[in-house]
Amino acid sequence: MLKKKRSLIIIILINLLVLFGWDIIFQDNAWLKSLNLPIIHTMGILFSIIEFYKAYRRKDSHHIGFWLLLTIGTTVYFLGNLSWIFVQILNGNTTFTGVEYFLWMIARIIYLVALFYCIREINKTRFNKIYFFNFLIFMITTASVTLYYLIEPTLDYAEQSLTTIIIILMYPTINLSILLMISILTYLVHKRIEHKTMLFLVVGFLATFIGDTYYTYLEPRDRYQPDGLVNYLWIIGIWSIGLAGYLIKKQTKSKNFAIEHISLPKVVIPPYVSTIILIFLVIHSYGWAVNSLSFGLLIVIGMIIFRQLLMIKENNKLIDEFSYLAYHDPLTNLSNRTKFKDTLEIEMENAQDEKIALLLIDLDRFKVTNDTLGHQVGDELLVQSARRIEEVLAPNMQLFRLGGDEFAVIIVGAYDSICKQTADKILQNIEKTFKLNEYEISLTSSIGISVYPDNGSSYEELFKFADTAMYLAKDSGKNRFQYYDGDLSEIMNRRLRIESDLRKGLDSHQFELYYQPKVELFSKEMMGMEALLRWHHPDLGPISPGEFIPIAEETGQIVAIGEWVLRNACIQTKKWQDMGLPAIRVSVNVSVKQFQHGGLVAIVKRALEESGLEPRYLEIEVTESIMQNTTESSEVLHQFREMGIEISIDDFGTGYSSLNVIQQLPINTIKLDRSFITNIEDESQLSMVKTIINLGENLNLDVVAEGIETEYQLSKLIESRCKIGQGYLFSRPIKADQFELLLRNGYTVAEEQ
Ligand code: C2E
Ligand code: MG
Ligand code: MG
Repeated sequence: MLKKKRSLIIIILINLLVLFGWDIIFQDNAWLKSLNLPIIHTMGILFSIIEFYKAYRRKDSHHIGFWLLLTIGTTVYFLGNLSWIFVQILNGNTTFTGVEYFLWMIARIIYLVALFYCIREINKTRFNKIYFFNFLIFMITTASVTLYYLIEPTLDYAEQSLTTIIIILMYPTINLSILLMISILTYLVHKRIEHKTMLFLVVGFLATFIGDTYYTYLEPRDRYQPDGLVNYLWIIGIWSIGLAGYLIKKQTKSKNFAIEHISLPKVVIPPYVSTIILIFLVIHSYGWAVNSLSFGLLIVIGMIIFRQLLMIKENNKLIDEFSYLAYHDPLTNLSNRTKFKDTLEIEMENAQDEKIALLLIDLDRFKVTNDTLGHQVGDELLVQSARRIEEVLAPNMQLFRLGGDEFAVIIVGAYDSICKQTADKILQNIEKTFKLNEYEISLTSSIGISVYPDNGSSYEELFKFADTAMYLAKDSGKNRFQYYDGDLSEIMNRRLRIESDLRKGLDSHQFELYYQPKVELFSKEMMGMEALLRWHHPDLGPISPGEFIPIAEETGQIVAIGEWVLRNACIQTKKWQDMGLPAIRVSVNVSVKQFQHGGLVAIVKRALEESGLEPRYLEIEVTESIMQNTTESSEVLHQFREMGIEISIDDFGTGYSSLNVIQQLPINTIKLDRSFITNIEDESQLSMVKTIINLGENLNLDVVAEGIETEYQLSKLIESRCKIGQGYLFSRPIKADQFELLLRNGYTVAEEQ
């Protein structure tokens, strides 16, 4: 477009140069001098023909019919000019003949058809009768004023034949119709991308119209000068029309769903102001002889106009409300999905060299909160999350709520570093604890990022890729962002493979339980063990539970797998006890999905009965998310408690933590999440660890530290009065036969196989 701007300036300069240069060079030859304007005019016409034809031939042009009609119209215009110049060269006379008149009129009729066609093409939905009538009022007013003041004074109807009168009236009528069409066109394109190019068309036709009208005024009065203003207007007209064809760039899809606000000055002033002017002119033509009837009529017309204006104001208010609803999400007041799609498409169309990033943000485990704490809390959480995302956005970033717990940010001019920073800031801001009523809610989010034009060039592609990336972020542990790259589809394929192979895994004995000791930190004695699931996939090799458990949870297969784990853990523990090995408790991880599925109590009972294990040797580990559905799960937990089974909260401190609720649930143990221990050298983490341990003591709960890997961590934990722990420092999770050796001989650090 920059290049076009430059060449536009060059074209204008050449024109001016020819215009003035010609006059200087042929100063002494009046005849040659008089050819200056016709030649520049004709050059403009040739330029227009070429540009219109090019626009017509371009594959991506939308209104090819329009450009074709303009090409034909301008060719006829050209023929008219040829005749004009020919006569001028032959006769040396500057007046027009009937041939030019006729050809120029035909050209204008074709232009009129072209404009009509264009308007129909682009406004199929937006154009309505009100605008048409407004412009009709405007045109009738202008027509009557033109006839009354310009034509009638020089035209004696009685002296002319009907054909002459018709021909004389044709020019102003056609020109006024063109004026009407370009007014409508201006209105229609005023918010569109092709606005600028269409503006040239409008200016061109307007200049031609004014030129024609002025000529109609001057000619009968014998005041027309071939080198006067009229010809300049015609020259400006044709060059400007031609430039529209030159500047039209790749046309874009029309946004038909845009809801238009009636702009008072633009649309209302032309008809009403012109009506008022007409009334005054009418009274003026009667010499201001106002009687009570005409006075009444004046007041009535005034009131009708006033009523119209009131109605338009009312309508505008309704339109405002409607478009607000159509484009906004009433809960968060953010723009909605429709607006998002629209914005992304427009930004992509307008993007020159800059990149546009799409960040798709999804709150992790939001649904559980919503289902359990109620929609009111859920709604409030969404509103607060929206504000927290908003807080970190710069002016070149726009936020949308796509629905549910899904948000999107569009970053225009997105550098890699800015995207990463923004994504990071969003994650951090969401991670801060939310305080809602009596709840303290920890929430995390996952973000998928795709970039235009690197990843795709359509809304659908960008959205799909950001979505894939977002799922991957969730899969790889949530609370992170993930860029889309081509390899992601490979990862998604792996996911699908795991999903479909999980079922076979159970039947063909690909699962195995590993055990990891729980240790009394001070004495380093083993006082329990945790059963951890392993999957040996025949083709993919060992797959970590961190990867397949979430998939099994999503697909519901966790219920069958979980049942297998419970039964086997109980059988194995009982077997060791029967072998006379130290009787210690086995902890089994149970997913929230298993709680929700129902029948968990029966499954546990069956596992205990089948294995003959005493309930006190079984501990159920659930994650914090269990607390989000307290009424249902607390019933199940109480039944476990009654049966004598222990309950511990796994990964404590990472998820949803309401200390209030902990007290109400029959919990024996909390397991401090590994992340606290990993970062224990950090003072704030250490003080949190201490607080949680104190809290545990106060509530009479055991606190188990997970993931102890170093002596330093161990010493810090002992110092903080933590009593029990688990981690690679003592032993990795190991196969049952190796664990048997640990039980028999006391444990030594063994490598996981
Ligand atoms: P979890 O229940 O928190 O288990 C502890 C995880 O931390 C285990 O990972 C264990 O191998 C690992 N770990 C233990 N000590 C250390 C250490 O010192 N350093 C490090 N870096 N890691 C340590 P694993 O076995 O990969 O299991 C991951 C998660 O998968 C478990 O976290 C649990 O939530 C889930 N899971 C495992 N087995 C089952 C199961 O049978 N059922 C269900 N529902 N979930 C399971
Ligand atoms: Mg666990
Ligand atoms: Mg854990």
